[in-house]
Amino acid sequence: MKFKTIIEPFRIKMVEPIHLSTEEQRRGYLKQAHYNPFLLNSNQVLIDFLTDSGTSAMSSDQWSAMMNGDESYAGASSWLRFEKEVQSLTGMPFVLPTHQGRAAERILYGKLGGKGKTFISNTHFDTTRANIEFSGAEAIDIPVKEGLDFASDFPFKGNMDIALLEKTIAEKGAANIGAVILTVTNNSGGGQPVSMENAKSVANVCRKNKVLFVIDCCRVAENSYYIHHNEAGYENKSYRQIAEEMMCLGDAAVMSAKKDALVNMGGFLAVKDADLAESCKQLLIITEGFATYGGLAGRDMEAIAVGLQEVFDPGYLNYRIVSTRYLGENIKAKGVNIIYPVGGHAVYVDAKSLYPHIPPHEYPGQALVCELYRIGGLRSVEIGSVMFGKYDSDGKLIPAPMELVRLAVPRRVYTQSHIDYVIEIFDEIVRTKDKVKGLKIVKEPQFLRHFTAHFEPL
Ligand SMILES: *Cc1c(COP(=O)(O)O)cnc(C)c1O
Repeated sequence: MKFKTIIEPFRIKMVEPIHLSTEEQRRGYLKQAHYNPFLLNSNQVLIDFLTDSGTSAMSSDQWSAMMNGDESYAGASSWLRFEKEVQSLTGMPFVLPTHQGRAAERILYGKLGGKGKTFISNTHFDTTRANIEFSGAEAIDIPVKEGLDFASDFPFKGNMDIALLEKTIAEKGAANIGAVILTVTNNSGGGQPVSMENAKSVANVCRKNKVLFVIDCCRVAENSYYIHHNEAGYENKSYRQIAEEMMCLGDAAVMSAKKDALVNMGGFLAVKDADLAESCKQLLIITEGFATYGGLAGRDMEAIAVGLQEVFDPGYLNYRIVSTRYLGENIKAKGVNIIYPVGGHAVYVDAKSLYPHIPPHEYPGQALVCELYRIGGLRSVEIGSVMFGKYDSDGKLIPAPMELVRLAVPRRVYTQSHIDYVIEIFDEIVRTKDKVKGLKIVKEPQFLRHFTAHFEPL
C-alpha cells in the first residue's frame, strides 16, 4: 500500500516548550516591540516563522559528532573533515570557514567590489546587497519575468534572465563586473528554484566574458529536489549528484550553513582560483580567525560536515518540500495569493492583493506581519518596501516591486499540527482584512533597516 500521509521522518528525543499567550498579551508585546517582530523576545512567540536560518533542529548524529570536535587552533581534525566535505560538494579546492554566510560575502565582495563595480544576480539577498553596496559597488537584480508574475506556474521562477545578463555585461563592460551571483534557491525571489539549464547558461556567459561566477548555495539541496522532479534528464540522478553538478559550474561559492547544512551557526567561502583564495584568506585571518577554523569551533565544523550529508537524504527532502507546499496550498485555498508554485523553505504571501486599500508607503506587508502575530502569535517577516524600499532625492519612497510576507519554516522543528494551526490563523486574516490599517516608520537605520526599524500604526 502507498500511503498518502507523509510523516515527519524523525521522532522527538528532547522537547522545548512553547510559551502560550493571549491575544491581549500579544497586543502589548507588539507595541513594546514597536510593531517590528524582530524586536520581540522569542518567548513571546508561539510559532516562529521569522526565518529558516540557524533554526534547524540538529540530529542525534550531529550532536554526537560535536563531542568529537577537535578544538586545536590550527589543523584540527574537525577542520579536515569539514574541508573534505565542502570540497566534495562544491568541487572547489580552496575552502575558507566563516562564522556565517555574510562573513563569506563580506570577504569575497569586499575583495571584488568597490566604486565603479557592478554585481548581477537573479535576486540579491539582503545581506548580499548590503555587503556589495557597503563596498561602494552597485547590485542589479535580473530575475526572469516569470519570477515576478504571480499567475505563472513556471517551475523555475528563480532563474536568471540570460538575455538581460548578456546585455548588462555589454553595457557595463565585462571588466567592471565584480561577479555574477546565482542564488539557489532564490530566497528574495520567493524561494524559487533555479534550473540546471539556467545555471549552465549563466556559467557559459560568464566564461565567455571572463566574469567571475559565484553560486550562493545556501539551499542547494532544496534546489536539487526541484531539478530532480521537474527538469528533464535529472529524474535518475540523486539529489547529491545534482547539487555537485551545479556547484561545479561556479568559480566560487558562498554558503550560510544555517540553511541547508542543518546547523545553528556557520558558513563558508569556496573558490577555485589559488590567488583569489590567498587574498581572501588574508581578510579571513584579520577578521574571522585562522584559516583552519574561521569563526567556527571544531564542534561546529563537525556538525556542518554531518549536516551537509543528511540534508540530501530523500526522506528528509521529501518531507521538507511537501510540508512547506502543504502550508502554501492551504493558505492559497482560502483565497489568499501566494507566490506559486510554493518555494522550498517558505511561503510568500502577497500582502498587496490582500490589503489593496493600504498603499506601499503604509507598508501592507508589515501590517500583515503584525496581524499574524496579534491573531495567532506567529512571527513572520516582511519582504517588500520595508526591506527593499529606497528613497528618491525628495525623500519619497520608491517601493519594492512586491509587498510580500515570508513564512519561513525551520527545518525539522515543527510538526503537522503546528502547520495546521498556522493555516487556521488565515481564517481570521481573511475575515478581518478590510479593517486592517497600515503603519508608518518612525525610526530607521541606513542599512538593513527591517531588522531594527520602529513603526507606529496609522
Ligand atoms: C541567509 C542567507 C545569506 C546570509 O547568510 P547569514 O548566515 O545569515 O549571514 C546569504 N544569502 C542567502 C541566499 C541567504 O539565504
